[in-house]
Amino acid sequence: MQSKDLVQLAEQFGSPLYVYDAEKIQSQYNRLTKAFSKVNKLRINYAMKALSNVAILQLLREMGSGLDTVSIQEVLLGLHAGYEPDKIFYTPNGVSLEEIEEVNAMGVQINIDNLSILEQFGTKHPNVPVCIRINPHVMAGGNANISVGHIDSKFGISVHQLPHLVRIVENTKMNIVGIHMHTGSDILDIEVFLYAAEILFDAAKNFKNLEFLDFGSGFKVPYKKDDIETNIEELGKKLSKRFNAFCTEYGKELTLIFEPGKFLVSEAGFFLAKVNVVKQTTSTVFAGIDSGFNHLIRPMFYGSQHHIENISHPKGKERFYSVVGYICETDTFANNRKIAEIKEGDILSFRNAGAYCFSMASNYNSRYKPAEVLWMNGEGHLIRAHETFEDILKNQIPLPVAVTTS
Ligand SMILES: *Cc1c(COP(=O)(O)O)cnc(C)c1O
Repeated sequence: MQSKDLVQLAEQFGSPLYVYDAEKIQSQYNRLTKAFSKVNKLRINYAMKALSNVAILQLLREMGSGLDTVSIQEVLLGLHAGYEPDKIFYTPNGVSLEEIEEVNAMGVQINIDNLSILEQFGTKHPNVPVCIRINPHVMAGGNANISVGHIDSKFGISVHQLPHLVRIVENTKMNIVGIHMHTGSDILDIEVFLYAAEILFDAAKNFKNLEFLDFGSGFKVPYKKDDIETNIEELGKKLSKRFNAFCTEYGKELTLIFEPGKFLVSEAGFFLAKVNVVKQTTSTVFAGIDSGFNHLIRPMFYGSQHHIENISHPKGKERFYSVVGYICETDTFANNRKIAEIKEGDILSFRNAGAYCFSMASNYNSRYKPAEVLWMNGEGHLIRAHETFEDILKNQIPLPVAVTTS
C-alpha cells in the first residue's frame, strides 16, 4: 500500500489510527512456507500476542495458519475467531495448574515450561499429549528484555535439567508428543538458530512418542534502513535439510512448527498520528503528536526505532525533529530524526507498527485507544472502532453518593 492511501485512511477514520496491510501479511506467510517447502509436515502457528485483533486472526486462519497463545484469554479469542482447538497451541509461562487444565479441557495443545507443573500435571493426567518447552540457553536476543534463552531466563526447562525431566516423564508415564524452544525475539544469526536447533534435536532423542518439534520464533525484521533481517530463505534451506535428516534418524516423519509473531505482522502495520504542535526550544524542534506511549510503547519500552515519515508533505526539505507524545511524562518516539519538514496538522506515519504496538496499548492518561483498519483489496475496513468515554467508564464503580458527601 502507498502513502497516499494512508493519508486517505487518516482522513476517513481520523487519527491516531492503526492500519494493517493484508497483502503484506499474506506475502510474509507465503515467504515462510516457501522457505520450508522441503519439509513435508510444516505448520505455522501465528503468535497472536503480537497483534490479536479478531479480524487479523481470521485473516491468518484463512491462510492456513494455526495459533500460538500465551493465556487462556488468547485461547478464547482464537476459538472466537473460528480456529479449531487442535489448531491452537498454548505456551504460557508461570501460569497456574488450574489454567493449564482448563485450556487442556478445551482440546488445545498445551506446552509446559517448568518441572513443578509438569510433575503435577503428569501425575493427574498421564494420558494427555503434552509438549515441553526446553531452554537451550542460547543467547540469541537483540534487546536484553526480549532474550529468553539465556541462563537467567525464566522461560522453559533448562536443557541441563534433562535427566530430571526424563525421570518425571518415566515416573508419571506421561505422553510427551512435542518439544519446543523459543530462543527469544530478534535472532540475528542463522548459525545461532541452527546451534540451538541441534540442542533440541539432542533433547528429542530422549522421547519416543514425538509428533512434532517446535522451533518457536524470533525472526528479525528490518526496522530501519540497512537493518539486518533474518534470511528466512537461507534458514529454510539449512534447517529443512537438517530437520529431514533428523526425522530419518528418529525413524518417523515429524511436524516442524514455527510460531512467528513479528515476522508475519510487523511490517504490515502503520501507525498514523497527527502533529498537534511544532515547538521550537533552545535545543531542538519538537513535533508533538496526538498520541503517546499509551498507544505505541515500543520506543520508550525497548528503545525500538520506528521509521517515521511525513506522509502529508513527503517532498518537503528534511529537517531534524524530536517526535514526542502528549503523555505527561517523558514520552519520546524519536530523537534527532530527519523528517520532511513538518507543519502542524501533518500526518506522520510510523512503520513496523503491526507487532507489539496495538496489543500493548493502554488507556493511560485516560486516553482512548486508537481504531484499527485492515487494508484489503484496495479498501480500508474498520476492524476496531475508536473508543468512547463509555469505554473509559466501563467496569468502574463509583462510590455511593452518601460516602462521597459525608
Ligand atoms: C512472543 C512469542 C513468540 C513470537 O515471537 P516473535 O519475535 O514476535 O516472532 C513465539 N513463541 C512464543 C512462545 C512467544 O512467547
